[in-house]
Amino acid sequence: SVSAGVVGLPNVGKSTIFNALTEAGAESANYPFCTIDPNVGIVPVPDPRMDIICEHITTLKVIPTVVEILDIAGLVKGASKGEGLGNKFLANIREVDAILHVVRCFEDSDVVHVEGSVDPARDVDIINTELILADMTTVEKRLEKSRRAARGQDKVEVARVKVLERISEALNEGRPARSLEYSEEEAKLAHDCHLLTTKPVLYVANVAEDDLDGEAKYVQTLRDLAAAEGSDVVVVCGSIESELAELDEAEKNEMLEGLGIAEPALNVLIRATYSLLGLQSFFTAGEVEVRAWTIPVGATAPQAAGAIHTDFEKKFIRAEVYTVEALQEHGSEANIKAAGKLRVEGKGYIVKDGDIMHILHGA
Ligand code: GDP
Repeated sequence: SVSAGVVGLPNVGKSTIFNALTEAGAESANYPFCTIDPNVGIVPVPDPRMDIICEHITTLKVIPTVVEILDIAGLVKGASKGEGLGNKFLANIREVDAILHVVRCFEDSDVVHVEGSVDPARDVDIINTELILADMTTVEKRLEKSRRAARGQDKVEVARVKVLERISEALNEGRPARSLEYSEEEAKLAHDCHLLTTKPVLYVANVAEDDLDGEAKYVQTLRDLAAAEGSDVVVVCGSIESELAELDEAEKNEMLEGLGIAEPALNVLIRATYSLLGLQSFFTAGEVEVRAWTIPVGATAPQAAGAIHTDFEKKFIRAEVYTVEALQEHGSEANIKAAGKLRVEGKGYIVKDGDIMHILHGA
């Protein structure tokens, strides 16, 4: 399955944020939980559209979809040379599909900074340098192999050499491979090499309690360097999130009101992670359950059916589809149908984010 990994220097708030994420998961009693590993969090994806659906459809259960987030602690300077538990951590990063890079943007004299001061640009550079160094080794080895193979005029290898040479140049200039633009074909060739710096990154600014507005200078610094490589920044406050995660619904709402925010910053982080992974949701909605399902962006209706049950993909017949907006406007599925807004879609239909679907299948 698809997953994102949390990385960052020690003491920047990774565990605090990871624990708050998994705490939110543990509270969602409707999800059938299995604890695979303490470092793997199965995190429900908060989706306000499900609340809207439930305003119009009376149901017994509401089941959010989930996203898998891994805690990858311990990346330090020198990891690419096997410093600390370097190799293990790099191997863990290799396994994930996207990276959540937590950066310390809060001052607190009680929390030791491994580098002696708060400096987001330097911290990001330390981590990114380790990943770039590890990729340089991978690319060199791969280039050697591909050049040898390309001598036989193997078209794929010739193309691979080209893309690897571009990547190598970027890495040598200290830029991650994700900062380059790729054609679809090049992206595939690069992906085959399992590089660390081709993975999409979301920077998580862990700010002080009164910097949640994201205006602090540390956050600005982070935004600038994220923008330079085409990445985004999400602002959270680890200590607030860990408090929120422990409250019941009523207390949580009270605290959010006090903070003047509509929802925990972690909700924003979870949704951003989900889209960073190229994922989107469709819904099934009925009396028994209202449920969100995960599919990759671009998935067809049969593939969506397969997300519910593998047998449904092959035996897919057609889907009845409507939107959350149509439900809001017409109030019920029957009214939507009467208004001619219930679409019937076939095998070639590309599912849109937020579609509500009835899947008809012969399984
Ligand atoms: P990790 O090593 O990156 O996993 O960092 P931890 O999550 O263990 O956090 C290190 C220390 O910083 C702990 O004492 C946390 O309580 C504290 N901490 C985490 N987030 C915040 C924050 O937003 N503000 C403040 N003041 N302290 C925080």
